[in-house]
Amino acid sequence: RMSFAPPTTSVKLVLLGEAAVGKSSLVLRFVSNDFQENKEPTIGAAFLTQKCTIGERTIKYEIWDTAGQERFASLAPMYYRNAQAALVVYDITKPASFIKARHWVKELHEQASKDITIALVGNKHDLVEDDNDGDDSSLRKVSIEEGQKLADEEGLLFFETSAKTAYNVNEVFVGIGSKIPEAP
Ligand code: GDP
Repeated sequence: RMSFAPPTTSVKLVLLGEAAVGKSSLVLRFVSNDFQENKEPTIGAAFLTQKCTIGERTIKYEIWDTAGQERFASLAPMYYRNAQAALVVYDITKPASFIKARHWVKELHEQASKDITIALVGNKHDLVEDDNDGDDSSLRKVSIEEGQKLADEEGLLFFETSAKTAYNVNEVFVGIGSKIPEAP
């Protein structure tokens, strides 16, 4: 019996979030299973592809990083206009980055494709891991509940991750892929 591989679905995915929350590091972890402690800011083009198998399907992510532009100016809507997926990333030790994430979600809902799949990602989970005395260390500034609440209100997937330890990083991309409709 002949078997046919199901077609690969290409998905344009963009990353949004304040500078230094770990956007490039999440991509590096997902694409190369690597991490750099003192990563130089990304300058210039930042386009990478990575395949991801979910059950019978193969998703080919075409990942657009901001190339550090969020440091200098607001991102042009053309950056995310025809994206099918977006990661809105914040740093769970930086409340300002969570406020910024709210703004990005709002902007995506106003400007991006209506059926875009968005994941809210609270990164740097390794910095607040339980120290066995029952509560998170005081470095945590954004609770899981706050993140989950925003995600529920706005219809987003929600994950806390660590690009450093790889915690939940694949789960983000598998989670997004499971929401992407089958190619016609
Ligand atoms: P971007 O500007 O959002 O792309 O952020 P980068 O990926 O350049 O990361 C900024 C800094 O945070 C770098 O020094 C990274 O090594 C560090 N970083 C990124 N992700 C994590 C993480 O999950 N945990 C920790 N502890 N540091 C991280």
